[in-house]
Amino acid sequence: MSIAAYEDGFDTCEATGRRIYISASKAHVYVQRIQAKNKRNGDRHAVHAFRCEHCDHWHVGHMVSGKKTPRPIPARGEDLAA
Ligand SMILES: [Zn+2]
Repeated sequence: MSIAAYEDGFDTCEATGRRIYISASKAHVYVQRIQAKNKRNGDRHAVHAFRCEHCDHWHVGHMVSGKKTPRPIPARGEDLAA
């Protein structure tokens, strides 16, 4: 568990296998990027950043219904209006 590895960009969560982001803002930047790309590709699935209860870092992913779903955290209130 070295901070240097996180700063380098890539590390993955052992529990979820998702890419780790060390801060909410970094995760949200990536969310914006994915949303823009998905829109161009006609993919309307929403992508969210959420804090992982296993590794205590941030992940980005599609919201999945069904079993244990991570709590979504609105990006600076943008999603609250919905
Ligand atoms: Zn995690």
